[in-house]
Amino acid sequence: MRLQDPFGWIDEESRGRERAGLVRTLRPRTAVADLLDLAGNDYLGLTRSPEVITAAATAASRWGAGSTGSRLVTGSTELHAELEQALAGFCGFEAALVLSSGYAANLAALTALTARGSLIVSDAGNHASIVDGCRLSRAETAVVPHLDTKAVRHTLSAHPGRRALVVTDSVFSVDGDAAPLAALDEVCHEWGAALLVDDAHGLGVLGEGGRGGLNAARIAGRQGVVATVTLSKSLGSQGGAVLGPAGVIAHLVNTARTFIFDTGLAPAATGAALAALRVLQGAPELADRVRTVAETLHRLLTARGLTAVRPDAAVVSVRAPSPRSAVEWATACRTAGLGVGCFRPPSVPDGVSRLRLTARADLTDQQIAWAVDTVARTAPVGALAPVS
Ligand code: PMP
Repeated sequence: MRLQDPFGWIDEESRGRERAGLVRTLRPRTAVADLLDLAGNDYLGLTRSPEVITAAATAASRWGAGSTGSRLVTGSTELHAELEQALAGFCGFEAALVLSSGYAANLAALTALTARGSLIVSDAGNHASIVDGCRLSRAETAVVPHLDTKAVRHTLSAHPGRRALVVTDSVFSVDGDAAPLAALDEVCHEWGAALLVDDAHGLGVLGEGGRGGLNAARIAGRQGVVATVTLSKSLGSQGGAVLGPAGVIAHLVNTARTFIFDTGLAPAATGAALAALRVLQGAPELADRVRTVAETLHRLLTARGLTAVRPDAAVVSVRAPSPRSAVEWATACRTAGLGVGCFRPPSVPDGVSRLRLTARADLTDQQIAWAVDTVARTAPVGALAPVS
């Protein structure tokens, strides 16, 4: 008797994905490729900064290649404490807690600050780590339309007196549009709800000297406000953090499972993030430059007839006619020497596949012009607006 392959269903699913042009494959980068990279999230170009690389090496030789254990056992070094203090101070919060990723930081905040019976109000465009955090929390989650503050107010008003938390990305990772943080803070205040903001794409780009989206909206450090950040984008390293009132951070230390049961962030990543933060503190113009680069990319792409979302931060999103043409377009850019991101379902809803370009503070005007020309030259039929 032939036994049924317990993984047979995977082949079937894969064929469906192939037919729809939605197969994903890993493409390892070769050392320092001859590619102009507008696909990564290294907004300030700090991942290759000599200061940051040296700090990573120094931290590894001082503390070891790994952190050796969870933060509450052996995985906390003086570097972790220093980074937490520096991050909190820079972003305008009382305290911070470093975790092994931004993903873990969102899971930590969402699960520790809600309980069964709580209400979470979540923007429909929120990052996957927020979606997963909502699921893991066992709270009731109300998903509201993208950027719809009225819907947030309406949802909160239907549950007076209930423990509630509103959660949003500060800058949405695919389209690069920003949430109305000041308005959301006001609504939360009105209804006694907490506000959790994922500032993964705001730190280093928005606010005074790159202090982030909450600084730009003047809500950093406000009562009831908590933020999460990643150390892997503007800070060029790896890891994540939750920022908020000292009491909230102490609560997370005691209750957040992705903090308690996870190995502490490696010393090299911790040291690199700290060094990157110091570089940013010493060069506040980096944040202005990355925003200018994003605006220039958008202006030039639009002038070439492409449909691009006006960027609120560093992400510039360009519409593709279909998932398959998005992949072919990204491949054509890559063949020409330009790395761009390609988003299609399930990362984005059906019918809105796109290329995602990220601005970097270290791009020259010549590189920007060449990148735009490459994207426009390789555009598929249907991506360019008809000439009127
Ligand atoms: N939030 C947002 C908005 C993100 O874009 C990302 C990274 N893609 C994360 C959280 C997760 O951060 P990390 O990569 O550090 O896990």
